[in-house]
Amino acid sequence: MAGDLGWIPSVDAVVRELQPIELPRPALVAIVRRSLAELRASPPAAPIPHDALLQQISTIARRLSESRLRPVINGTGVIIHTNLGRSPLGAAAAQAVVDVATQYNTLEYDVAAGERGKRCEYVEQMLAILCEAPSAMLVNNCAAGLVLILNALIDRPNRTRVVISRGELVQIGGGFRVPEILEAAGATLHEVGTTNQTTLEDYRSALNIETAMILKVHRSNFYMEGFVASPPTSELAMVARAASIPFVEDLGSGAVFETRDIGKHSVHEPTPGEILKAGADLVCFSGDKLLGGPQAGVIAGRADAVARLKRSPLYRALRVDKITTVAMQATVDQLLAGDIGSPPVHEMLRIGEPDLRERAKPIVDALRDGKLHVKVGNGMARVGGGSLPATEIPSITLDIRSPSVGPDELAARLRRGRPPVIGYVADQHLRLDLRTIFPSQDCMVIDALRRLAESVA
Ligand SMILES: *Cc1c(COP(=O)(O)O)cnc(C)c1O
Repeated sequence: MAGDLGWIPSVDAVVRELQPIELPRPALVAIVRRSLAELRASPPAAPIPHDALLQQISTIARRLSESRLRPVINGTGVIIHTNLGRSPLGAAAAQAVVDVATQYNTLEYDVAAGERGKRCEYVEQMLAILCEAPSAMLVNNCAAGLVLILNALIDRPNRTRVVISRGELVQIGGGFRVPEILEAAGATLHEVGTTNQTTLEDYRSALNIETAMILKVHRSNFYMEGFVASPPTSELAMVARAASIPFVEDLGSGAVFETRDIGKHSVHEPTPGEILKAGADLVCFSGDKLLGGPQAGVIAGRADAVARLKRSPLYRALRVDKITTVAMQATVDQLLAGDIGSPPVHEMLRIGEPDLRERAKPIVDALRDGKLHVKVGNGMARVGGGSLPATEIPSITLDIRSPSVGPDELAARLRRGRPPVIGYVADQHLRLDLRTIFPSQDCMVIDALRRLAESVA
């Protein structure tokens, strides 16, 4: 019985019968071939009906097609959402990317001299000014920055120990584990203190001839309250200086503006400039968190240290391309010019509730006669992306309910739409936070909710 596999159709037949799926034909053929080969290799006890088989293969193909990188509408209220691409670029940065990336450009060319120039010269000088630092450089992300710093500043095999507080050995979403980063960079970890308490003496007594560096990692993605203490940057810097070793601080989110007045429970996030002034030799932070630029890592601090990193062979593997360079250049130009509202995440952090309420009204009105109940609600937006974890920003939501379909199913249907609209479920409602939805997307939200209303009718 098991030997008779005549019911398994040919690859060609299945490809012909599949409903149109947005995949290149070779990809479709490969999926069908693989699925049918698996059936032949380990056949089920009974033949699968032809329609069910088509359905199975079509589901696999559709999944792949939908996994394409594409825009979504973010109704989660999480402003720097790591799964949704962190900071969206502003219009000027996006246009600069198009202009530079689609033409030849001055990436490594000095037009005055007519010869080879320095990569990233302009953007790195602007970043140094923004960070109030003697020098700055760009790499692919903050993790790469940390790897480069560790790798270039330790001295193998004799001085590889990096002293770090146990309370800072955090995992920062997406597999960023400080101990593993250290290991990958060839450093050895020396933990001091406890999860919630580390004293200056803990650091001081850990230093020995093998110690290469003191590293402080900003606890940016969670917030410990209560009996928590670690020495301030200025005191750590003095201990490091006395031992003639570098002191480096990984700031993670990299706030370059005052964060205390954002929403509720906000704290002052130290700026790169403040940390450097307090005595850190180098800081690193992400380009696509609070800075609002493209994925990148910014390293700022002492000029000799930055120069040393640039000479490291590893730098060649971690440097940024023209697309990142120009997107960061446009972002930093705007930040230095003080252009309010650009980058977009800065606008989302600051927009007032009355403005959001104004936008909510016409959306609710437009959906009044449909099969959904839509009302204006109050929500709490968050910064996200490992930035300002305690901060809550009062926000305005669209609260959606249907008498016949539950909120989780409503959320799933919106996610499957084109474009996908991502909301969240709370208090028996599907909720869309308007703070993270661009005003220019409001009409798309109306369209998506109209289609949702039809689907429940
Ligand atoms: C987010 C974060 C990182 C990782 O940044 P990437 O740019 O994603 O590499 C590193 N350290 C801290 C403290 C962070 O918050």
